[in-house]
Amino acid sequence: MLRLTALSLVLNLLAGPIYSCGIALHAWISKEAIKKTSGSLKGFLEGRRDTVYNGSYFPDSGYAIDLCEATYGETAHWTPFMNTYLDYIKKTCRQSGGDILMTGECGDLIAYFFGSVSHALADVSFDSKFLVELTKRGYFPTVGDAQNVVDQGLDVLSVNDPVAGIFYDVPEYDAKPHMHHLVNILNSTPTGGSNLNVGVDIVQCSTELMSLARMLEPVWAHFKEPEYLLLVPPWAVQNRFTAPGGIDDSANYVVGFWEEFWTQLTEPSGYQPKKLSESGGWPTVTIQWVSL
Ligand SMILES: [Zn+2]
Repeated sequence: MLRLTALSLVLNLLAGPIYSCGIALHAWISKEAIKKTSGSLKGFLEGRRDTVYNGSYFPDSGYAIDLCEATYGETAHWTPFMNTYLDYIKKTCRQSGGDILMTGECGDLIAYFFGSVSHALADVSFDSKFLVELTKRGYFPTVGDAQNVVDQGLDVLSVNDPVAGIFYDVPEYDAKPHMHHLVNILNSTPTGGSNLNVGVDIVQCSTELMSLARMLEPVWAHFKEPEYLLLVPPWAVQNRFTAPGGIDDSANYVVGFWEEFWTQLTEPSGYQPKKLSESGGWPTVTIQWVSL
């Protein structure tokens, strides 16, 4: 019964029409992105890998409306949230000497931010390039049709795959910042409409649900593999790492933004504050830095 209940939760969470790439693929992209970093940024991310992975699931947790009444999914995917989160870190973690504290609770907050950013950027990269590639090759008539199959399908066909190796990378549940920080950030994010007014209980519920889904996904995927082997074009599986918008390309995209965020947080001499803006509509949104 417990297993059935847990699996039904996972099904509910994974079956929503919302995943641009699946839970496991987000962790895979963050994993590859960490490998591509260097210096102090690499040291920081490697030391808080589980928090980065948990952050990599965060934006989609905001779609858990049925089970947790979460309504922050769209907000958590876009640049106003990233800009607000970056400002919050600077405001909350700046020490009296001016440097940003990178340890303890502030370290958690920063690592989770890098994960959340990875998620949002990976969605943009995957949708605008990998899914478009599938339509160009005639596998699906529209990007939406490709998304309906491949988002979940590629996760199912990758989560237990020894080549991906991501079945080793289920993060510790507690590797997260305190929920009140996330609530403060979400509720301060400009939404263009009424404020979110999210409560701690909602973010707690939805992030717990996401952790549960990630934990159970390898089991659930075994049941779904036969179905998706028929639906997902073999080209997508064979080229998921190397194709435009695939794992490696998306990881490169993420690293470029991570390095700029790290510069913003470490503030070397000559540093120029910037913020992010987005333009265009799905599936070809572009995200860029703009000078303040
Ligand atoms: Zn997403």
